[in-house]
Amino acid sequence: MTDAAEARLTVDLDALAANHARLRATAVGAEVAPVVKADGYGLGAGEVSRRLWAEGARRFFVARVGEGEAVRAALGPGRAAQILVLDGAPPGALPRLDAAELTPVLNSLEQARAARAFAGGRGARLQAALHIDTGLNRLGVRPEEAEGLRGAPGLELVLVMSHLACGQDAGHPMNLTQLERFREAAALFPDAPRSLANSAGVFLGEAYHFEVVRPGVTLYGGGPFEAEDPRFGAVARFEAPVLQVRTVPAGESVGYDATFTAARPTRAAIVAAGHADGVLRSGSGRLKVWLGGAKRPVLGSVSMDLVAVDAGDSDIKAGDMAEIIGPNASVDAAAAAAGTISYEILVRISRRARRSYMGSPG
Ligand SMILES: *Cc1c(COP(=O)(O)O)cnc(C)c1O
Repeated sequence: MTDAAEARLTVDLDALAANHARLRATAVGAEVAPVVKADGYGLGAGEVSRRLWAEGARRFFVARVGEGEAVRAALGPGRAAQILVLDGAPPGALPRLDAAELTPVLNSLEQARAARAFAGGRGARLQAALHIDTGLNRLGVRPEEAEGLRGAPGLELVLVMSHLACGQDAGHPMNLTQLERFREAAALFPDAPRSLANSAGVFLGEAYHFEVVRPGVTLYGGGPFEAEDPRFGAVARFEAPVLQVRTVPAGESVGYDATFTAARPTRAAIVAAGHADGVLRSGSGRLKVWLGGAKRPVLGSVSMDLVAVDAGDSDIKAGDMAEIIGPNASVDAAAAAAGTISYEILVRISRRARRSYMGSPG
């Protein structure tokens, strides 16, 4: 098998930088702090963070302590970014956070107490962010609990933040409710920069920007409102080769469970990517891929290693590459076909695909 004849993921770092620039131009006056959790939405947190540092990013968000350690290692000593861990300080994690110079996003009074005790033991103030829950009811202290953390000795609050539940639905009344709650609660900490907006929040208007915005998916080419958005270019290009083209006689079926039956003789291109590569099985019979200069539907079920694609009357042949995700097959379209969101499409692209990067590494 030649090198080309396998699935590959190409990450376009220049497209990432362009998306970052678009966010900066929208959130004028606010700092854009990239969210690089889940290995940079599956695209490589180290490569993504280094390029975004070159674009001016100095504050990054991850979900897990281990992700923060990986980003710290990838940035190296020459790039002293602030790396905030959204999980906060899970029990026992403070020494690890401290060793990698990671900043916990404190999510509960218990975490705040532990952080203060740790700072006391260390004899120096501990930098931390505070997450105030304003309605998502996931992580964060309740607004009425925040009062007690005012002027907490031992802690230097570098950020107060909250997270929107319904930002992707611009007209949802919860957005304004959370905005008001956040404004009120954050006023208890007048010295700390404030952050409310994820990608969607950036596009809800200036009132949602505060001092810091935290976009994730738009950096990686997903639309802010869970639909394709031409303002954000594809960063991931996920391709796989055609292994074989066959003609399926009228009346015969294709694939597991025989869910597609050819009404007339049908040319099917068998592409070497399946659900083990991140082509979600729920896209069976609905996903379209870019092949031979056109968008073409998948025929029947997505199997573990293969999908069949309607080749029509094209001259598609073995060795041609099908673009499953990319500039011609958006993550949002793939997500809609599979009944999910772009985030899940990106993070599911498996390690079986050979990865490479294009554009300036930063
Ligand atoms: C994941 C996440 C983000 C980024 O959200 P996007 O919708 O991808 O922009 C921002 N803030 C928090 C707390 C998150 O968990």
